[in-house]
Amino acid sequence: MNRYWSRVTQQLTPYVPGEQPQIDGLVKLNTNENPYPPSPRALEAIRHATGESLRRYPDPDATAFKTAVARFHGVPADHVFAGNSSDEVLAHVFVGLLKHDLPLLFPDVTYSFYPVYCGLYGIDYRAVPLTDDLSIRVQDYGQPNGGIIFPNPNAPTGRLLPLDDIEALLKANPDSAVVIDEAYVDFGGASAVPLVAAYPNLLVVQTLSKARSLAGLRVGYAIGQPHLIEGLERVKSSFNSYPLDRLAIAGATAAMEDTAYFDQTRRAVMASRARLTEQLTQLGFEVLPSAANFVFARHPSHDGAALLKALRERKVLVRHFKQPRIDQYLRISIGTDAECDALIGALRAIVG
Ligand SMILES: *Cc1c(COP(=O)(O)O)cnc(C)c1O
Repeated sequence: MNRYWSRVTQQLTPYVPGEQPQIDGLVKLNTNENPYPPSPRALEAIRHATGESLRRYPDPDATAFKTAVARFHGVPADHVFAGNSSDEVLAHVFVGLLKHDLPLLFPDVTYSFYPVYCGLYGIDYRAVPLTDDLSIRVQDYGQPNGGIIFPNPNAPTGRLLPLDDIEALLKANPDSAVVIDEAYVDFGGASAVPLVAAYPNLLVVQTLSKARSLAGLRVGYAIGQPHLIEGLERVKSSFNSYPLDRLAIAGATAAMEDTAYFDQTRRAVMASRARLTEQLTQLGFEVLPSAANFVFARHPSHDGAALLKALRERKVLVRHFKQPRIDQYLRISIGTDAECDALIGALRAIVG
């Protein structure tokens, strides 16, 4: 509390990101970063962009990047909105499309940034409980609302909702924006982007932080019909005219174009996920089916917080949420096979 803080600032409950500690030999499986480096072509493009031209402002519309995104997804360029991370895109979505008189709906167990944006922008929301097996049931969203948002696959559960269910939700809520946060969709999910042409209320948000190994570059985007994109552009140009810097535009454009590398790394992550799931199951863990680059797992006879601590003592960092319904679970990012082996070795010593 501080007397110079505005009332808004005094009442904020900020998001707490996973730690980024500097510990030698740490096996870091806590923030869903990609274990593989960015596309070599993206790194080369960034190097190439480092020069005299940094004197100048970047393209405020990030046209090169939006063109690459449009080409990758097979949509017109006017269907693409770009931002400095998908967290920033989401912030603009919350104030631009989801702040209405009726409450915004999202799951009770989901990306914990959503209630933070509601606090920042004064958005009324209702948390809709997941089912007992931590699934989203679309029928539970059949209540008056000013918008709907959830990640697909959901975070931190990793569970995927089929596109048929998303389509049912879009049909049942023609007067609300339905926002699908696809941060993890490239690890085995079907994207809702092909539904955009038919549904004026659908916005899909993606990021280059996870499947494209560029969490450090901070680039995200949204895809929707032009009337939704125009709303987001209005917010963006009332906030920061140049959200993507020159290096980000160069690197992100090249990353979107390097589909071969993208496919190679995401397949490697999916293969490691299958392997890790099997090993965790053998150690007695219950592992939710995951379509993401992490698994959500609990052990019937070991407390979640205790496991977190015991792993940390062995220099393995995973994520735990002190939150009702999920406080027995660990969220484990998929590392390289060597990192997963280090995790399994530590767990074997703890639970074995
Ligand atoms: C990681 C993540 C994001 C944020 O991605 P950035 O582009 O790095 O901001 C958004 N939504 C979900 C569900 C995530 O897990």
